[in-house]
Amino acid sequence: MLPPDSGAGSAALGMFHRNDFASTPDDRYARQLRRGFRRLRFEPVVEAEYRRTLIETERLSAAICAGVGACVWFAFALLDLHRISALGLWQRMDPAVWFWLGARWSVLVILIGGALIIRNRRGDYGWLSWTMYTAMGLAISFTAWIIHAEGGFAADSAQIVVVMAAFLPLGLTFRRALAAALVVAAVSILVLLVLDAHHELPHRVQIAAILVLAVPVAAMGGYLREHSQRRQFLLTAILDRQAHTDPLTDLANRRSLFAHAERVAQLAARDGCGVALAIIDVDHFKHFNDSYGHGAGDLALQRVAEALGADLRTPFDTAARLGGEEFCVLLYGVTRDAAQARFDDLLERVRQLGIPHVGSPAGFLTLSGGAAMLGPHGRFDVLANRADAALYRAKREGRDRLRWA
Ligand code: GH3
Ligand code: MG
Ligand code: MG
Repeated sequence: MLPPDSGAGSAALGMFHRNDFASTPDDRYARQLRRGFRRLRFEPVVEAEYRRTLIETERLSAAICAGVGACVWFAFALLDLHRISALGLWQRMDPAVWFWLGARWSVLVILIGGALIIRNRRGDYGWLSWTMYTAMGLAISFTAWIIHAEGGFAADSAQIVVVMAAFLPLGLTFRRALAAALVVAAVSILVLLVLDAHHELPHRVQIAAILVLAVPVAAMGGYLREHSQRRQFLLTAILDRQAHTDPLTDLANRRSLFAHAERVAQLAARDGCGVALAIIDVDHFKHFNDSYGHGAGDLALQRVAEALGADLRTPFDTAARLGGEEFCVLLYGVTRDAAQARFDDLLERVRQLGIPHVGSPAGFLTLSGGAAMLGPHGRFDVLANRADAALYRAKREGRDRLRWA
């Protein structure tokens, strides 16, 4: 059992920010989840991340939709040839028929090309999806008008299906999908009511009314889908963060350190770079807790963690909390001399914090460290064991110092 805060503990607490007391460091995903996102917009950094995730998760479905669209479109292109023969239009190819064929085959090329680009190239394909969808929707509308004008049969109710298809997983955000559906619905209604006089007006008005209704019905489904997709994105990010970070100090935890270190070791072996590891332990920390209370102990750990994480210079440098009052710092692309200077500096930073500690010979909180360079075998577990042995030597030799393996 940890003792309650003593009078000395309260005095020590004065040097910390009370608001930080034993707090779990917040993160932007949890903040966004609490704040809500009814307008389907996150704060800019999270929004950019969500868009990247959306583009990647819907890449396959968008390519499949484009591919299926291209197959159906090709079937209609073949049907066109039959229709043109049946109507005897090959003999008198007027501009309208050229337009009809031109629209049909160019959209087919756009759909096939788009499906291949989405599937095979990295990067954002959102505008490509938008363009393919809109080109297809407009082409259906205009070709139906021409086919009617030439005396053929084309189902104008097909536009309803097309309007709803904007909300399929095409890599479009809800807003872009809605814009595309509105453009296609508006143009279709205009063509139907103003240009295409093939059917009686009441029939055309009826189709136009269904098109007007189709947009909000499909959009509601699209909205709900994106809302739950965004919620799932935030929850996954929060869980991922919780799985990889230490909640008290916000540093990487042991699990993420080991996963990261294995990758760094491989990278170092490939690039011939030096990697240094220091395992760092707070001196006489049990005594600190006994003297000042567990809460003050937690705050001290947070301040130590902040100091240890303050000098990470490459994306491969890491500071982690291994557990309890034990930390580790991994430096990438360093010589032993450079690593020594930086580890010494970290120990000095914590001395400079001047956190009072009656149980320490120095009178303030100090650290001991054991350091080692990654050997030619490149195994992180071996490196960690060597650093740990050096840490015990630092403890035996009087603490408040760094020793090398
Ligand atoms: P040494 O100098 O040999 O490392 O001595 P020490 O007292 O630091 O080592 P010991 O392993 O005996 O005690 C570690 C203490 O760290 C015991 C435990 O109460 C404290 N501790 C571990 N985790 C936490 C934590 O999350 N918060 C607080 N406040 N204390 C912790
Ligand atoms: Mg200790
Ligand atoms: Mg310890």
